[in-house]
Amino acid sequence: MKQPVDAIIHNIGQLVTLEGPPIPRRGVAMQALGIIEDAAVAMRGERIAAAGPEQDIVAAFEAPASETFDAERGVVLPGFVDPHTHVLFAGSRWHEFELRCQGRSYQEIAAAGGGIRSSVRAFRAATDETLKIQTRRRLDRMLGLGTTTVEAKSGYGLDTEQELRALRLIEELDKEHPVDLVPTFLGAHEFPDEYRSDRDGYVRLITEEMLPRVVAETKARFCDVFCEEGVFTAEQSRAILQTAHRLGLGLKLHADEFAPVGGSELAAELGAISADHLLEATEHGLLALQRGGVTAVLLPVTSFSLGKGRYAAARTMIQMEIPVALATDCNPGSSMTESVPLVLSMACLELGLSPAEALTAATVNAAHAIGLAGDRGRVAPGLRADLQVLDAPSYVSLAYHLGVSHVRWVFKNGRPVH
Ligand SMILES: [Zn+2]
Repeated sequence: MKQPVDAIIHNIGQLVTLEGPPIPRRGVAMQALGIIEDAAVAMRGERIAAAGPEQDIVAAFEAPASETFDAERGVVLPGFVDPHTHVLFAGSRWHEFELRCQGRSYQEIAAAGGGIRSSVRAFRAATDETLKIQTRRRLDRMLGLGTTTVEAKSGYGLDTEQELRALRLIEELDKEHPVDLVPTFLGAHEFPDEYRSDRDGYVRLITEEMLPRVVAETKARFCDVFCEEGVFTAEQSRAILQTAHRLGLGLKLHADEFAPVGGSELAAELGAISADHLLEATEHGLLALQRGGVTAVLLPVTSFSLGKGRYAAARTMIQMEIPVALATDCNPGSSMTESVPLVLSMACLELGLSPAEALTAATVNAAHAIGLAGDRGRVAPGLRADLQVLDAPSYVSLAYHLGVSHVRWVFKNGRPVH
């Protein structure tokens, strides 16, 4: 007697399970994808009921014919988790791209009033509806490229009401769109125009007014700070993150992207779940991440888009057994992409990751970087049935066959949504 389930995907050539405990993979463990050939997956409700060799699954479970999906020998893997994005923004900065193609640097453009501050002006001027329409299109593209969970930061409002608005819109989009959004408060993304000459005053606004209201009025799970030369110093970042921690938020940090100002050390000291960017992290900083068990979230498309010709030292991090995750950094200035597959290609070709390491970094390790490794990022009974079915002979195609989507179907919570 077969057990009834709600849906089955069968005739899978390669099932990438990433089997193992709900902890980040380090060192050589990043190579282990737990691949099952000739496999099937059974789903009940929002969860995976069983996954394994086709003959075992098909002998034990039965789904209605209309809910039985033939993968035609393609690849099935967990939906991507994108653990660092600024996906809620207004408008576009295509004109800055033209300037950068003519040789102007990101910092020069920012100093001339472009950069994050121009996105802040656009965000403040945009209606809720405009922001949601534009962001929904980006989420649709993400889903079409295999992403089912996205961390989304505020940080283009930079005053109390606008930051609360950003977090509320992220919450609404999470409810309205199949992609799950995990909200992060990034009021410390930049100093707004009105506080350029009173930077400590803005830090006090964040700690005394914004953070208490963010915790009381929104579902933000993390607090992040752009700790960088010319932006928030290590001392200012510490004050903000300590307050956030006291109020119960998890901690993240934009660290050591353009200059080593102690971001990695601060992330380790404060017990942050992740430190992100890390191009300029020193040996001292990496040792701190290693000792602190902090996940390094690397954003190679940002380095590529900025034309820096420099990338984070991913191989050193993996050798040091620092958990490495990957993200798009989707934002209008330095990484205008929704594509995790593009990130995988860059990770292999520029960071020196193997395709297996890159896939681990975009699934189980990425889920850990937003505190969800117990719920998703792998294929195992009881986990959320967030899956992508690829029209490709191997998971390697994700990185190797550039610039296209390999997705045939995306399943979110056990239902085909794309
Ligand atoms: Zn960022």
